[in-house]
Order: sequence, then C-alpha cells, then structure tokens
Amino acid sequence: MKRKIVGYHQDEKQDWVADLNCFHGQHVRHEPPFFNRPWSATAEGRASKLGEVLDCKRCDVLEFPKGLKEYKRTPEFTQDTIPKGLLKNHTTKVGTWGKIHVLQGVLLYEPEGQAAIRICADETANIPPEMPHCVAADGKGLFCVSFFSDR
Ligand SMILES: [Zn+2]
Repeated sequence: MKRKIVGYHQDEKQDWVADLNCFHGQHVRHEPPFFNRPWSATAEGRASKLGEVLDCKRCDVLEFPKGLKEYKRTPEFTQDTIPKGLLKNHTTKVGTWGKIHVLQGVLLYEPEGQAAIRICADETANIPPEMPHCVAADGKGLFCVSFFSDR
C-alpha cells in the first residue's frame, strides 16, 4: 500500500529509515549498486522526499505498528446489530489503525484485494489506515472494534 514519507530516523547501525504515515518504517539506504538512493545520504535530499510515497509491504500483510495507543472502542455488535456501513467497503481515516476483536463466534473480514479472513472467538485482526475493507457475520457472533493512533 502506498504511504507518505513524514519523517526519518536512524536505526542502530546509523542507516536511514523513512517514517511513513502508517507508522511503519522503511529503510532508504544508499548502497550502490543494490540500492541507489543518493538522496538519502544528505539532509537536503531527505527533505526533498518528504510527502512522496513508498510502497509499504507491512501494511499489505496487516502488521500492527509498535507504539500506538487505543483511543476509542465501539460497542459490542452481534450478527443482528452490525452497523450497515461495516458490511460494505469502508476505511478508517489517515493515521488510524483498527483492531477487530471477536468475542464470540466467527466474523469474516475482507480487506480489499485480499482473501477473506475468518476471525474466531478470542482472536483479533488488524485494519490498516485507509485500506478499504468490509466484514460479514458467519452465524452467531459478538465483536467490537478498537481504534489506535500515536497520540
Ligand atoms: Zn505501513
């Protein structure tokens, strides 16, 4: 999934890592001939790439970023009370991760362009910011969704 560069930091080996607006990091090493990114070696070059996008594979595999805080949680829904908006494609906003908690039964979760995921009782599944997705009941179930950001 395409993510904007919002900053940079250096890892323990002093390699530059771009901070993406999904809260994942991505190395932007300049190591010719393997990685040819002369811009990442200078402050000016890095600044010139702020706002540009990189493809974030961690979002594609629904990897939950570290260091986020829960700020909201929905009521618990059953197969009969799932809000209609959740049954068709929808997204969380920029910078908001969701986490589906299945408390009882099974819920089907379908991120756009990916196979549907069966979330069983006591399991969770992650929703990356802005990734279109929908859910569907699979028999009786009980679930809620919590929302996370970095502040
Ligand atoms: Zn990401």
